[in-house]
Amino acid sequence: MNTTFIAMAVAILMGIGLLVGIGALSLLSGALNFLFVKPKIEILKSKFGDNGFAFSFKWDQSAEPVRFDRVRLHLFNPFGSPAQLDITREFDASGNDFARDLDLGIAMKELLSAKGLESATLEIEVAASRDSVTHQTSMKGSTFIEKVKSATSSAEELNEILATPKMKARFEIPDRSFISPPLPKTAKQLKMATNPMFAGDFAGAVAGGVAAPVADNYAVSKVWIEPGCIVCDACEGIFPEVFEVTDSTCLIRPGAPLDNGLRIQEAAEACPVEVIKFTKAS
Ligand code: SF4
Repeated sequence: MNTTFIAMAVAILMGIGLLVGIGALSLLSGALNFLFVKPKIEILKSKFGDNGFAFSFKWDQSAEPVRFDRVRLHLFNPFGSPAQLDITREFDASGNDFARDLDLGIAMKELLSAKGLESATLEIEVAASRDSVTHQTSMKGSTFIEKVKSATSSAEELNEILATPKMKARFEIPDRSFISPPLPKTAKQLKMATNPMFAGDFAGAVAGGVAAPVADNYAVSKVWIEPGCIVCDACEGIFPEVFEVTDSTCLIRPGAPLDNGLRIQEAAEACPVEVIKFTKAS
């Protein structure tokens, strides 16, 4: 009875913990979205001078697939004159980041010349009227004046930039081979004791003060190459009368002399991939 009760209590606590965790994650994602995916309204330079209001608007279109088509400037000027001013204009709707330059006529001039504008608050609201979505930003009148005066980019320029298709990053895979190319052909011969060309060089050679015993030569009955040759040329360098290295493999020359087993053995031992095989003549 007690065990059942404890199990139920643990299950309930785990359920509550899970719900609290999901809630916290959802709040965190909302906060991140608010902080980093916030729509951006920027003031631009208007071609209509004091009568114009130019701005750009950027937002996350994948999160809000709507078309913005209206802007509203609202002035709160409780200690100045006029105390309030409201200018609303519609423009060509856009479903992508955009910039607009609007001729607001005398209303804009009135806003810019409002008494006490510097300490007033200006609210800029961009709306998608069909979808009832609005985004707004507010700033002090002094900041607004400064932004209008210091703006250098026009809506036209910005729209041109926004219309330029963004180049996708190109990742190129270098054309490289990890198999080393065949060694260049050379007439050089390996200087080895069993190569008769260098027999004189090794005559009387000693190792540790003791002359190396001379191995008895022998004949082979058959020599062949198994698959896997990497065309390194080592065998041909040792015994060119027997081995012929082509562009893709190694061949045994027709009528190759098979009476020098020691040299064939040396070539087989020098082969880095051990594909040279032979059988001793009985
Ligand atoms: S030594 Fe071996 S890998 Fe090199 S060419 Fe001769 S058979 Fe091929």
